[in-house]
Amino acid sequence: MRAVTDLAFDALDYRADQTFAPARYRYVGDERHGWAVQRDGAELLRLGPGYRLLRVRECGVCSTDLARHRLPFPLPQLIGHEVLAVDERGRRYVVEINASCHARGLKDGCAFCRAGLPTHCPRRITLGIHDLPGGFGPWILAPIAACLPVPVNVPDAAAVLIEPFAAALHGVRMVDPKSGERIAVLGPRRLGMLAVAALAGVRANMRARGEDFAVAAVVRDPALLPLAAKFGATEGRLLGDGVADASFDVVVDTTGNPDGLLTALRLARREVHLKSTHGQPAGGLRHLTEMVVDELGLAAFPANEPPAGAADWDRLCTGRRPRVAWLAKSRPPTWLLARADVRCGEPAELAAQFAADQAGLPRADVAVADGAAGVDAAVRPRAGSEEPLVRPRGLVLLHPQTVTADAPLLDAVARRGLRLSTSRCGDFAPALALLASDQELARIGDRLVTHRFRGEQLAEAFATARSRGCIKAVVAQEPR
Ligand SMILES: [Zn+2]
Ligand SMILES: [Zn+2]
Repeated sequence: MRAVTDLAFDALDYRADQTFAPARYRYVGDERHGWAVQRDGAELLRLGPGYRLLRVRECGVCSTDLARHRLPFPLPQLIGHEVLAVDERGRRYVVEINASCHARGLKDGCAFCRAGLPTHCPRRITLGIHDLPGGFGPWILAPIAACLPVPVNVPDAAAVLIEPFAAALHGVRMVDPKSGERIAVLGPRRLGMLAVAALAGVRANMRARGEDFAVAAVVRDPALLPLAAKFGATEGRLLGDGVADASFDVVVDTTGNPDGLLTALRLARREVHLKSTHGQPAGGLRHLTEMVVDELGLAAFPANEPPAGAADWDRLCTGRRPRVAWLAKSRPPTWLLARADVRCGEPAELAAQFAADQAGLPRADVAVADGAAGVDAAVRPRAGSEEPLVRPRGLVLLHPQTVTADAPLLDAVARRGLRLSTSRCGDFAPALALLASDQELARIGDRLVTHRFRGEQLAEAFATARSRGCIKAVVAQEPR
């Protein structure tokens, strides 16, 4: 029998006043029986089985870290979630951040993990964000199925970017660039440059099949254009020079501010993909950030019955009739009643109905709304509760009679047929595979990381990461 691990170390906690303070951590336990995590001699957390001990090599600083004091999770916390770690034999791993039932290898997983949505598991804690100590310390407890070995030809500098790169790649795959299209990334910096790189990687594969699409970087700061070109942008556009309306098929908004969405809506013909979680109202909706957190889409309700094979319906019909929460004033059409389990009523009451369902996810798959209040209610139906009416990766559809006054987002969707898609996390495996297959792409680390710090320089790393001259800062935990 293997002895229980008992490990103590010093690390810097992040506090609610945005400062760092030293703390003494202790991990006692093992993978099979679980762990006790202590801070300064007091028990902080009891983890069940399914976590393994890894030593941190490097951890990236991202916008989520810089805004950590605004997130609804307890502080102080040992933060940092973009982790490159090594095991006792020196093998390198990247670690997916959600400690879900699935990631811990638990057999009695929740309905969300069973439905293939582990990043939305309601039981999850999150590495370096929510409770689970993160990568700005020397050791982490990582969910066993969340640790992916790094291929030998992917250098450390690229591997430490895998979390944001996977998120960027997931967004790019969702917008699914078509041959001949023009895809723009609005406001590329930390995450946006990786979206440009992910588009360039997808484009390289498409060009190998004799097809092509354009990748545009749309910026306010001209200094970013040469960097965007290095990441694979085929054109650069300056917003101040006046970029014409509907210049692009798709605009990926990585600006992180509410005004960015308005620009994206103006520039896009087919789709806007939103990756910003700034927590502020935007486009006429209160709960837009929550839409991104839940990875919901917004599209026009079809004027006529969609043909068999229509992508949206197929995606939602996973083995059963889709559940529709009908929040619009007019009656649902007969074709919909024939194809779906349609329920009409008050949003909070419908949420309770779907939550009580025994089979599948305890949510609606789709909501149909006819105004901003309806869309907001589909996302967060009860004041003071984070429980949504629509399931993660579900859809909110806008009825043709939607009232769009004071809601430019609803206007673009209902009147122009634009789609809004959103995404938060991405799977690491396809992102690692793409980096391993494309040596040009594997140089993202050398290009994006502008500043490096040692573990004890966290305060300096954060101050630098907030400054204009820094694109990406990385904190190293051990001598290389
Ligand atoms: Zn991040
Ligand atoms: Zn779960």
